[in-house]
Amino acid sequence: MTAQQRCAVVTGASSGIGAATARVLAAQGYLVVLGARRLERLQALAAELEGVAIPLDVTDAASIATFAARLPAGVDVLVNNAGGALGLESIADLNESHWQEMWQSNVLGLARMSKALYPHLLKASSGVGHVVNIGSVAAHETYAGGGGYTACKHAVKAITETMRVEWLGQPLRVTKIDPGLVETEFSLVRFDGDAERAASVYAGMEPLVATDIADAVLWAVTRPAHVNIDEIIIKPRDQARVGLVYRR
Ligand code: NAP
Repeated sequence: MTAQQRCAVVTGASSGIGAATARVLAAQGYLVVLGARRLERLQALAAELEGVAIPLDVTDAASIATFAARLPAGVDVLVNNAGGALGLESIADLNESHWQEMWQSNVLGLARMSKALYPHLLKASSGVGHVVNIGSVAAHETYAGGGGYTACKHAVKAITETMRVEWLGQPLRVTKIDPGLVETEFSLVRFDGDAERAASVYAGMEPLVATDIADAVLWAVTRPAHVNIDEIIIKPRDQARVGLVYRR
């Protein structure tokens, strides 16, 4: 792989927001490098976008090292999107393995990827590297049963702000995009494949679609290089707060 073209790395590109983001960035002319665990899905998308599919498990340091070794020297954009929620248990009914898995992907995975790609981002072909972290409205609010996930996304907020402090003066930008309800595989994964329960999350309301978030990523990365979009919160019109949704 050579870095003739601007290069964007998208984690969690096998589904939902990550796949949609890869599509809009490829349409903008980026060479997209797609990472996730389900390689067949990545390969199909990479073929469509003339991108590159590389298996990636962000919970595994060795997988990240192998992934990073295949990247061009310069990477312009890193979209830290891999992650999601598992379960809806209260703290009194703590599910430790869910919490550990969420922390590994949403928080440590994001930090590990940012560390691994830091040297590549400093050599961005455009001259300024850009990290876009996908947070959530769960970075700003809490809800019953959401303790593990909201703690992770609050951590993503803190880490994003720390990056901006630590990297001040470097040719780097850091953005966080915080979606509300987006209809993807998110709820299906959260409820362990229970399609009926997952569908009930969006029943009677109009959720966001993955492209709504991808468009925000695209807007943030295409601002002039002296502009840093710190944070964007995007919710459906039918959602006022995490647990306050208008259903027809
Ligand atoms: P999704 O359709 O379930 O997609 C999640 C993606 O993350 C998949 O591509 C999955 O790929 C990848 N992933 C999960 N664990 C991974 C790991 N260990 N290593 C590498 N990739 C991993 O859900 P989504 O809605 O697009 O979620 C994307 C991001 O948006 C997540 O960070 C989520 O927390 C956030 N978000 C979603 C919503 C929403 O309502 N949908 C709202 C706010 C924030 P593989 O399984 O193939 O690895």
